[in-house]
Amino acid sequence: MKKAESIVQKVFPRFGVNKQREISRLLYEISRRENISPQEVIRTPPSGDFKKVKETLVKRRFPHASLHGELPPPFLPGLSLDPSARALPGENDYSPREVVVEQEVAHSWLSDRVRSAFPDASFSEVPSMKRHLAARTRFTLADYSKRRDLLFIVSEPHDFFKRCPCTKGAVPCGYHVFNLGFGCIYDCTYCFLQEYVNTPGIVLPANIEDYFDSFVRYRRSPRARAWHRGGRMRIGTGEFSDSLMLDHITGYSSPIIDFFKKHLDTVFEFKTKSARIENFLDAPHGGNIILSWSLNPQGVIDTDEFHTASLRERLRSAGRAAAAGYRVGFHFDPVLYFQGWERAYAEVIDAVFQAVRPRDIAWISIGTLRFSPGLKQVIENRFPENKILDGELLPGYDRKLRYPDSIRYPMYEKMIEKLRKHSREMPLYLCMEEKSIWRRVGIIPPFTS
Ligand code: SF4
Repeated sequence: MKKAESIVQKVFPRFGVNKQREISRLLYEISRRENISPQEVIRTPPSGDFKKVKETLVKRRFPHASLHGELPPPFLPGLSLDPSARALPGENDYSPREVVVEQEVAHSWLSDRVRSAFPDASFSEVPSMKRHLAARTRFTLADYSKRRDLLFIVSEPHDFFKRCPCTKGAVPCGYHVFNLGFGCIYDCTYCFLQEYVNTPGIVLPANIEDYFDSFVRYRRSPRARAWHRGGRMRIGTGEFSDSLMLDHITGYSSPIIDFFKKHLDTVFEFKTKSARIENFLDAPHGGNIILSWSLNPQGVIDTDEFHTASLRERLRSAGRAAAAGYRVGFHFDPVLYFQGWERAYAEVIDAVFQAVRPRDIAWISIGTLRFSPGLKQVIENRFPENKILDGELLPGYDRKLRYPDSIRYPMYEKMIEKLRKHSREMPLYLCMEEKSIWRRVGIIPPFTS
């Protein structure tokens, strides 16, 4: 970036600071995308005033969007790389150095399990996590990168579950989120938690019975009855964490499976990138538990989903879950656009149907890469080698950065066509996607919202 800045200062000395910043950003992004130096990008400097120069570089940075007349003003923030924010490589195995337990749950089943799972960690008790952290007003990306070292066991006071907020302007899928934990031991380059988490560790609640009480109260409320109109409510963990990342230690799944046997009007989903399904295999369940996996080609898992299970392990687990009588789900989310994407995802789809039968599948969702503008700088700080930001990501209908329609639509179309070759009946839905795209790909929302 420094190189790009100094070239811009030399070549366009009359541009003001903000204009130089935008041109430097464009130069930097083009040089990454085309794998050449910023110097080469500007070998023959575009002529004209700032507007002309910017226009020329924007067209080169977003060639596809420009060709299809889909070029909103791009998001061109300043760039400052902080080496301390970089994601730490770490081991795939999770082993926190420090565990902080709230006094109220110091003798809970969860603290006992965590103590025996991590005998070398240092344990301390505090009256409340919130107060313990009160002196810290700001959490940095460096804290986020070290979050695997610190584990909190808490008594969650109120944030039990809620309707999924979806995204403004998208077709909702009526999902509810069971907030069982905050923070994830995995490290996906595109994860929104990097920008969202305000705790320097992983947080696990020990008072799971309070979640069940709050669910029962909610389910009886007139509001919930009106919303679900007799349809089955879909609910799941996995919005602020991975549902099964530590299930071999927490054992959260066992009471959940047991509880939802009494609530067959609800379908409960565990979403994961792990292969931690041992607690499910022999558990008697009510047929309303869905185990689901986020899927990507192995090449993407290697470069963008650190510490997670391989594609083969995820699909093998799905096959084992189906053999144990569970219905399974798959989430192609986020689908990334790169050279050869179509073939890579087609191979994953074929592998899915080698692992499970169509009738074992409860649903499949598809969602292309999108994220809030603020996450762009977080990703480049934490994962400077990432390739996902080289894509043509532009502010979309909800202001999130996403591929333009002319890239997204054919991606959905091709994925759906390939999936439908395996099964015409299986429920498919798009995640956080606007009505016009649903209409164009011809999918009817399979769930009540
Ligand atoms: S597994 Fe999910 S929650 Fe965990 S880092 Fe990846 S995207 Fe985020």
